[in-house]
Amino acid sequence: MADDSIAVVDLDRCSPDRCSYECSNFCPPNRTGKECITLRGEDAEQGGPDQVRISEEICLGETCGICVEKCPFDAIEIINLPSELDEDPTHRYGENAFSLYGLPVPEAGSVTGILGPNGIGKTTAVRALAGEMVPNLGNYDEEPTWESVLDRFRGTELQNYVERVRDGEVSIARKPQYVDQIPKQFDGSARDLLEATDERGALDSYIDRLDIGPVVDNDIETLSGGELQRVALAATLARDRDFYFLDEISPYLDIGQRVTAARLIRELAEEEDRAVLVVEHDLAILDLLADTLHVAYGEPGAYGVVTDPKSVRNGINEYLKGYLSNENMRIRPEAITFEEHAPRETTKAEPLIEYPDLAKSYGEGEFSLDVESGTIYNGEVLGIVGPNGIGKSTLAQLFTGDLTPDVGDLDFALDISYKPQYIEIDQPMRVDAFLSSITDQFGSSYWNTEIANPLQLNRIMERNLTDLSGGERQRVAIAACLSQDADLYLLDEPSAHLDVEQRVQATSAIRRYAENHDATVMVIDHDIYMMDLLADRLMVFDGEPSIEGHASKPQEMRDGMNDFLSDLDITFRRDERTQRPRINKPDSQLDREQKRAGEYYYA
Ligand code: ADP
Ligand code: ADP
Ligand code: SF4
Repeated sequence: MADDSIAVVDLDRCSPDRCSYECSNFCPPNRTGKECITLRGEDAEQGGPDQVRISEEICLGETCGICVEKCPFDAIEIINLPSELDEDPTHRYGENAFSLYGLPVPEAGSVTGILGPNGIGKTTAVRALAGEMVPNLGNYDEEPTWESVLDRFRGTELQNYVERVRDGEVSIARKPQYVDQIPKQFDGSARDLLEATDERGALDSYIDRLDIGPVVDNDIETLSGGELQRVALAATLARDRDFYFLDEISPYLDIGQRVTAARLIRELAEEEDRAVLVVEHDLAILDLLADTLHVAYGEPGAYGVVTDPKSVRNGINEYLKGYLSNENMRIRPEAITFEEHAPRETTKAEPLIEYPDLAKSYGEGEFSLDVESGTIYNGEVLGIVGPNGIGKSTLAQLFTGDLTPDVGDLDFALDISYKPQYIEIDQPMRVDAFLSSITDQFGSSYWNTEIANPLQLNRIMERNLTDLSGGERQRVAIAACLSQDADLYLLDEPSAHLDVEQRVQATSAIRRYAENHDATVMVIDHDIYMMDLLADRLMVFDGEPSIEGHASKPQEMRDGMNDFLSDLDITFRRDERTQRPRINKPDSQLDREQKRAGEYYYA
């Protein structure tokens, strides 16, 4: 057989009690009497029908793929590994299970980034690097030892690190990906949580710089996502460990908070000589944060490859290009490109909404918002940017009619489809049932092309809404929002919990949807790259978070970016090779020149 191919059976999906083994009945080697697809024999003892195993020696490989087609539950994947991949796995979870190739290299004094999709083995790699699991080098039948792992990595940059893990010398602190789960695991105030983790006496400084003070005595359960994210960061960074693993720092944080978090992490690595490994999907922030970068690619759920370290600039550039040079590996058919120049003013379509100056306050001494009058055009994608707590959701609720302005009249009667920032879908309902209750287009080839495929919904259709991960829930919520019949689509932070590839896909789904339906879309998001790819114009919020906010009228991209970034005091330069925007070092020559010229983004 093609010995560069692997068979992966998802045992959560393989349900022989509901099929009649079409996979093995139709498998060509099986039909000639060979034992390619056989029964595992594990469930028989419990009296249930047996799940299947596939012999990778006998299987004919991806070009056959008959079992993949026949399986009604999408439980089987047959994948030809790229021929460029000439190494053995670092770890394989078992027969026909996920395999990981390569390992990231943590280094004291430095921040190492991993850029790649979810489900590609990042957590698996970290468990190995933390010494929680001995990688089996693909020999899942044998008891793995650190000696054999050391043999594998002798002479590489990992040798020294692996020796220390073997000797039990590496301690780890980690920040989980889904901070929303923290209240389920911890009772008490933010201060209680933080004090238990303050091993370096650094807590007060983190509370101050991450602006946690105002909520530190509040119950964890009452904190917003952005507050939880900052508490979780402080709790992780305040520990006294050798190796810090941060699985995404940006969800729910605004750009100012993201930049602060990035600086604190860099300081920890540089000044305290610690090794930090981060997974981050906001590329502008990853660029600022990491010293070196591993790109991870493969087939989520089936296999993942962590490349050797690259410089951050090269790593991100190659990733965007879709081609990894050293590895001679294409990871995406097309490149992702950015406009170097601000888009020219487009001829305007019909106005959809013309609104007057508005004001809204939540009461005496409470937050107040004022909104400059403006026009939103049919068919445009309007980006909305500004810090957290500045009134963006308040404006969304004024438009949906959930709030009434104190000053100004909104007399339009528009159907608005709204995806909130925090997605609560707790109905015990399957994804397909939920989505088909929203649109009768559900399942049509048109809907599949426009919505289900780019949002990668096919593999989660049969899952329960309550069992979905953060990223899966986000994709279902975006699909639900776009599937409704409406005049205006309003999406609040669609990038949260999506990996980079999913952000790109979601961006093009939203853009294409707007173009094909003459639909008007307003998107609130903090990911600058996503905004750049998505928005035609920008509405910029400024003011003092939690106290008062001001919303500008919709502006052209250049003016809007200048307005927004001058508030943040951040300038972007262009990468010479790919033209992608990169955050300038504060007070560098370019930073000063651009500020003097008033060109913060399209310099
Ligand atoms: P990431 O952190 O990149 O999202 P993970 O390392 O958590 O990815 O998981 C990679 C793959 O390994 C997933 O498809 C997951 O289902 C699979 N996996 C994780 N743990 C196990 C396990 N104990 N047994 C079998 N498969 C596993
Ligand atoms: P953003 O969407 O920009 O993060 P919001 O519009 O959600 O900002 O909130 C702006 C400010 O208004 C915040 O300080 C928030 O706590 C406050 N706020 C929001 N809703 C209410 C309410 N119902 N009553 C009192 N204050 C509120
Ligand atoms: Fe059999 Fe392999 Fe073909 Fe599947 S892909 S039917 S296991 S030969």
